[in-house]
Amino acid sequence: MTADSSISAPGTEYAATASEAYRAALAVIESVEPRIADATRKELADQRDSLKLIASENYASPAVLLTMGTWFSDKYAEGTVGHRFYAACQNVDTVESLAAEHARELFGAPYAYAQPHSGIDANLVAFWAILATRIEAPGLAELGAKHVNDLSEQDWEKLRNKLGNQRLLGMSLDTGGHLTHGFRPNISGKMFHQRSYGTDAQTGLIDYDAVAAAAREFKPLILVAGYSAYPRRVNFAKMREIADEVGATLLVDMAHFAGLVAGKVFTGDEDPVPHAHVTTTTTHKSLRGPRGGLVLATEEYAPAVDKGCPMVLGGPLSHVMAAKAVALAEARQPAFREYAQAVADNAQSLAEGFTKRGANLVTGGTDNHLVLLDVTSFGLTGRQAESALLDAGVVTNRNAVPADPNGAWYTSGIRFGTPALTTRGFGAAEFDKVAELVVDVLSNTQAEGSSKAKYTIADGVADRVHAASAEILAANPLYPGLTL
Ligand SMILES: *Cc1c(COP(=O)(O)O)cnc(C)c1O
Repeated sequence: MTADSSISAPGTEYAATASEAYRAALAVIESVEPRIADATRKELADQRDSLKLIASENYASPAVLLTMGTWFSDKYAEGTVGHRFYAACQNVDTVESLAAEHARELFGAPYAYAQPHSGIDANLVAFWAILATRIEAPGLAELGAKHVNDLSEQDWEKLRNKLGNQRLLGMSLDTGGHLTHGFRPNISGKMFHQRSYGTDAQTGLIDYDAVAAAAREFKPLILVAGYSAYPRRVNFAKMREIADEVGATLLVDMAHFAGLVAGKVFTGDEDPVPHAHVTTTTTHKSLRGPRGGLVLATEEYAPAVDKGCPMVLGGPLSHVMAAKAVALAEARQPAFREYAQAVADNAQSLAEGFTKRGANLVTGGTDNHLVLLDVTSFGLTGRQAESALLDAGVVTNRNAVPADPNGAWYTSGIRFGTPALTTRGFGAAEFDKVAELVVDVLSNTQAEGSSKAKYTIADGVADRVHAASAEILAANPLYPGLTL
């Protein structure tokens, strides 16, 4: 098996310098709290030694990671570029402008906001920007006021009630939607009257006619498209048509698949940015940047998104915005397109590897970066499958399948993603081997009685899988040339 390192491993060219930087940094940390230096070294060793198939994770380059460890962390910069509530923000302005510029260029968006600390923050900024634009601004105009502070107590109370009484239509959790799309345990479900659209019970695919029917009946202010566990592409042009027909704002949450948009695997109707009014994303999943969020918007919504601080956010994480600028600069390189294509090709290979070994996939396959395996045919719950795989060194996460009989805790599925291991250089052959190893573990694991959590793995299987994966991992090293 050969490593296809031509498409991967950003940072190999400066690995020697990065090694020196990390050794020096760890020596400094060691002198203050050695247990943290130790945990940091162990984390790298563990990540290097495990088959990481968690669909929402990746490995950012040393350039991205090193950018976060600076004195930008010490600076307060509430406000926006050129309009800060704090003095001496000239260098933060440089950083935030560059992050936004790279994001606009990369995604072809009229406006980008680089401050959100995470995906959930990006969604909160987007929700409130939409509420501010569509409910608060007209409400103020109707009352002849310019600013919320000009309203009487009574008028403000009325407007506040209106802001808290809007409707949102998003994808259901069990068919791949995200908690932040209006589900009760999350603040979005407490803010909005929420309804869900699901997928077709036969094909597992989004049925756009059913989405349109739900939108016509429910008349949401916001239609959310985007997912965390749907293994197929979405037609965002159709979603926009549906939104327009019912007067909804289309919000696309591309947290999971932003790397495939950036890498031009998703184009035309599958590229959300030209179709959505507002697009949100994380920066640390398939986009391979630092842990953070990003909001893209049309000119109409830009002014409200720009007020994300103080609306939702406090001081921006300027050190992380700097790392976003570095990661987005990397994503604008031609090599990132090859990476993104490989992520999608590898998911195909993984899916075929499962199918030819008799395993059941939700929707029968994939055309993005993730594969959802229904483990009920192995007689296991998602919880048992996840634990057994982990015992064999395969890191995945359990996930509900549509109409899951085992609920959201035990589940019946395992979600696999290709972004992380593709960064290590895994190609089609390696992902076929991964499918073989996973099926080896699951077909040799048995549920204990009627337990949804307990299981036993046949003797020798975990060791055999560990040894086989160690071989492929060694041939595709994480951060090649980086030594601590
Ligand atoms: C991961 C994810 C989020 C949340 O991102 P965090 O950075 O963990 O807050 C939001 N939406 C979707 C669709 C996601 O997949």
